[in-house]
Amino acid sequence: MIKEFKDWLEKKYDNKRTRGSRLSEAKKVEEYYGDLYQHFLNGTYQKIVKDLEYSKQDKDNNKPNPSKIKIDGDIKNGLNSYKAAANLYLKFLKEQHIKTFEDYQTFEDENLKQSLEDSTQNRAKRLKSAAKKPTSRTVEITVYHRNPDVKAEVLNRANGICESCNNKAPFNRSTDGTPYLEVHHKIPLANGGEDTIENAIALCPNCHRKAHHG
Ligand SMILES: [Zn+2]
Ligand SMILES: [Zn+2]
Repeated sequence: MIKEFKDWLEKKYDNKRTRGSRLSEAKKVEEYYGDLYQHFLNGTYQKIVKDLEYSKQDKDNNKPNPSKIKIDGDIKNGLNSYKAAANLYLKFLKEQHIKTFEDYQTFEDENLKQSLEDSTQNRAKRLKSAAKKPTSRTVEITVYHRNPDVKAEVLNRANGICESCNNKAPFNRSTDGTPYLEVHHKIPLANGGEDTIENAIALCPNCHRKAHHG
């Protein structure tokens, strides 16, 4: 287990007991499944999380413990807390691996998705022990120097009309009164896309959001 995880938990949770149990649960998962960071790098981490799944229905059906972890007592409670700890450690690892701004946005989207899929009760439980001050970390991220000529040409081509929905730009820039559109790269620069007029498109803010999140 990466030793910074302990510091990370300290910043995330005010409650010492919560931190202690999350840490020992994550260690337990590692004890039975092997180095979790290696699983993260190999792309096999999700399989472990799946292995720890145990629903109320499973409990009603007296389903045997599907995981490698030995559990005395209630299988559902036991596995649910191991799963929560494994997910938390995964979140930590992902946070360590943010390299580009897109990585960061994906990271936030995934966290939101996970929270939405969870129950109101579980969210309330976490909110109760969550630190009220947001944590921050200084990371070196890669930004791409986008060619202003490509941007200017694409904006000229669009002539104030979104190249996806064909609606007029929703407002004009206060700086110079030109129609506000955003230049988006069809193949992202981070994925090797070219910073060229052909790979770029002028979008209204709605269509731009949709291009990334829709
Ligand atoms: Zn549009
Ligand atoms: Zn974009």
